[in-house]
Amino acid sequence: MLSNSLIDSLFPAGLPGPDEWERRYPPRELPPGAEVTRFSPSPTGYLHIGGVYVAIIDADIAQHSGGTYLLRIEDTDQARVTEGAVDQFADALTYFSISPQEDDLNGRYGPYVQSSRQEIYLTYVRELLRRGKAYLCFATKAELEDISARQRAAGALPGYYGPWAIWRDAPEEQVRERLAAGDPYVVRFRAPGTAARVGFTDAIRGELSADDNRNDAVILKSSDQPLRLPTYHFAHAVDDHLMRVSLVVRSDEWLSSVPLHLQLFDALGFSRVRYAHVAPLMKQDGGSRRKLSKRKDPEASVGFFIEQGYPAEAVQYYLRGLANGKLAEMPLPEALATPISLDDFGTAGPLVDLVKLDDISADHIATLPAPVILAQVITWAQAYDPPLAEVLAAEPDLALGALAIEREGVPNPRKDLRRWADFRAVYGYFFPQIFEPVTDAADPRFGGLDAGTVRPVAEEFGSRYQPPSADTEWFGQIRDLAARLGFAPNQKAYKQDPGSYRGSIRDASQVIRVLLTGTTRSPDLAAVAGVLGTEEVLGRVRAVLGQPSEA
Ligand code: GLU
Repeated sequence: MLSNSLIDSLFPAGLPGPDEWERRYPPRELPPGAEVTRFSPSPTGYLHIGGVYVAIIDADIAQHSGGTYLLRIEDTDQARVTEGAVDQFADALTYFSISPQEDDLNGRYGPYVQSSRQEIYLTYVRELLRRGKAYLCFATKAELEDISARQRAAGALPGYYGPWAIWRDAPEEQVRERLAAGDPYVVRFRAPGTAARVGFTDAIRGELSADDNRNDAVILKSSDQPLRLPTYHFAHAVDDHLMRVSLVVRSDEWLSSVPLHLQLFDALGFSRVRYAHVAPLMKQDGGSRRKLSKRKDPEASVGFFIEQGYPAEAVQYYLRGLANGKLAEMPLPEALATPISLDDFGTAGPLVDLVKLDDISADHIATLPAPVILAQVITWAQAYDPPLAEVLAAEPDLALGALAIEREGVPNPRKDLRRWADFRAVYGYFFPQIFEPVTDAADPRFGGLDAGTVRPVAEEFGSRYQPPSADTEWFGQIRDLAARLGFAPNQKAYKQDPGSYRGSIRDASQVIRVLLTGTTRSPDLAAVAGVLGTEEVLGRVRAVLGQPSEA
């Protein structure tokens, strides 16, 4: 064991003792059963949708138990910190309405960014050293590689432990020599593990057992780093204790580290935290399932959902349904209000299926009134399609009129929007600023009808146009036009004698549809024409005649 004088010489003279931190961060006064949860992303890249999944669980459990939910930025891996990541986290959490109740702006258990907590960690590293539960290790990279090679050759388990842990019992003299020489060192935990197996309870998986940790894990990174920070293992133990977290919800990739983490909590004299390890979000890839991958899958990024403009409620609903299957069976408002329960999680990773999400989202959007949709599309477009945002701001009545078609006051509203990014393709033609008139009478959208058929339809329709109104029957004018121009009155008549007709009435109607909307599928044409207004209708119809639009 190293002498206290040597240990203390390694730390700042005024470094507080653990008592001071304990006083500064007292246990919280919360009602019984209240859970304190935290979302602890590492700012090493964009936020994974699995992070939002965990944050939704954190926020929900804290809220429904009367506890609190905090955000902690885990940036101990300074080399991998990505610029802008923290802001992106904040934006994403805001988008999904899961902003933390506590962070550096309003929490009293901070700082909530690990790189600002260095002093706190050093206190506890010094404490473990003083109690002989940690030691200095000067092993070089080459020495560690040599140890691994010899372990492989001897068929021994890998790691830095027992007889392989060359600095575990080094005499103080040797440590002093290396310090004097200025050699870099790390601080390692002296693993107490003697039992072969260790049992513990996971709040999702129940009673588990695993091989106990034998590794003398690094707790404080190398002394040659400009900012000396601990490893995740050590930092999370100190933070979850001092932030008085009661429930750690995290990805099950950490399950294998639980034995080490429990040893750390015990060695530090902290009461153990409760862990809930959630299975990762999966993706169907051909015949097999794999984890949703940041590298391969665009939908692994939270940014994908925001850029595509999926309404937050739809994504929330979908992710909650993945967490607790029974929530997927409930209508959206009920599912969003029902607490997520740790008892209802599966242990297999749930499959993220974008087709399913699209359906959910389209169903949800179909329940929204036109003004709500318009407001959300504008917000989305301001960030992702500014020209569209401008058009919508200039033409709110047109937009509301377009959105109201087959949506308001009907039993089965249109499910034509899955996300706000669909808006331009689905509704863009309503806006003269976006619509491109069809000027070529041989355009393929006319479905093979020739110019000699298309032009007379346009001409005739334009010259006798009757705007839709309560007492005109829209389709009547198409019928008249078809009869005058020699189209069959219905499909059957046309099929029986195609040679006698220019086409069927359906063809004539389709010409009008293409001219008015630029598409071959649209909602009810009378409703579309009503929203467009006579001037616009005539302009569009006549565009194919090569005449400047008049009226
Ligand atoms: N910073 C860790 C990660 O991003 C968080 C694990 C945890 O929640 O404790 O994987």
